[in-house]
Amino acid sequence: MDNAGCKKRIFLSPPHMNGEEMRFIREVFESNYIAPLGPQVDAFEREMAEYAGTGGAVALSSGTAAIHLALRLSGVGRGDTVFCSSFTFIASANPVLYQGAEPVFIDSEPGYWNMSPSALNRAFIAAEKSGRLPKAAIVVNLYGQSADMTPLLAIFNRHGVPVIEDAAESLGAEYKGKASGTFGRFGVYSFNGNKIITTSGGGMLVSDDLEALAKARFLGTQARDPARHYQHSELGYNYRLSNVLAAIGRGQLRTLKERVEACRAVFARYLEAFLNTEGIEFMPEIPYGRSTRWLTALTVDPDLCGVTADQIIDALDRRNIEARPVWKPLHLQPLFKGCHYYPHTMEKSISELVFERGLCLPSGSNLSEDGQRRVIECVKGCLKTAGVKRRRMGT
Ligand SMILES: *Cc1c(COP(=O)(O)O)cnc(C)c1O
Repeated sequence: MDNAGCKKRIFLSPPHMNGEEMRFIREVFESNYIAPLGPQVDAFEREMAEYAGTGGAVALSSGTAAIHLALRLSGVGRGDTVFCSSFTFIASANPVLYQGAEPVFIDSEPGYWNMSPSALNRAFIAAEKSGRLPKAAIVVNLYGQSADMTPLLAIFNRHGVPVIEDAAESLGAEYKGKASGTFGRFGVYSFNGNKIITTSGGGMLVSDDLEALAKARFLGTQARDPARHYQHSELGYNYRLSNVLAAIGRGQLRTLKERVEACRAVFARYLEAFLNTEGIEFMPEIPYGRSTRWLTALTVDPDLCGVTADQIIDALDRRNIEARPVWKPLHLQPLFKGCHYYPHTMEKSISELVFERGLCLPSGSNLSEDGQRRVIECVKGCLKTAGVKRRRMGT
């Protein structure tokens, strides 16, 4: 029995259903609302707004769609620039290109890996000099943790630049006692299959600006004018969430708090296992907030550990365990070649340093303690083998 379990693949962040989803899906089937929109969508939006404490919420087909609509609603268009965190998944910045605008990438600060206020200040100085202030900004909350919003918002507000908070990875986290994702003009959540709660695919746009949310709803349903015949004056999209998937989301939302506690417990066990390992450092937690630890992210110093992050990922894969590198910073992506980038200091690019050494370990809220022990033993095995090799070579 135990041996059979050992062969099962351990995934990075698999879906974790709780059974409640089926109750809502049954309602969908019984009412035959197998449609985009419907009572589950309305209820999911209400429940998400209530959870986040925002004026409203619009359910969409993905987090990427939510970022895209937020950019449209911020008036971003051809020739505009948008400031965006560099250390993130490509989906944060792709919608900037959809709008024909140009991203300007901002580095992370070393303390918590999210947007660096000092890099942001330098980006604004350059923007003022060239007379090209950004039309909007996308601040990303990485791996379950809010960015340090107070100093960042102070800078953005001084320049009158609206902020879109990409909270796709930080649903369930808090910043100064408030839900992460509710600090900008718009907040974006994702329910993609790998996120802390999932609808298989989906997203949510939250805001206190109800007029803007109504416009988002309009644009996301093909921008149909209020006429009986099919008339359209504006470019729209088919971005609304299916009523079936909203039912899954409602079920998932009911156990969000437990999922956060489970991910934090997974992190705590990793921390305990590697606390005294020289050369291993975990993503630090902000003192003024609470991370969900959606993914346990850490850096490996190859000089001290004798192995690289890549070698650990390979070793885990050979044991049927899925680990991943951290995101490749967007300013290093071929797609964004030529875009401006502002590192934390003139000498130091934090996102590049973390990228060279970073990895994410399996962090599912349904990861068993036995499964996690398997992961920890494998990583420890890599470090030990490296230590033996180094001693043999007399270094
Ligand atoms: C997952 C993710 C998104 C995109 O969400 P989708 O729902 O997959 O479109 C955006 N930003 C970040 C940082 C993400 O991790």
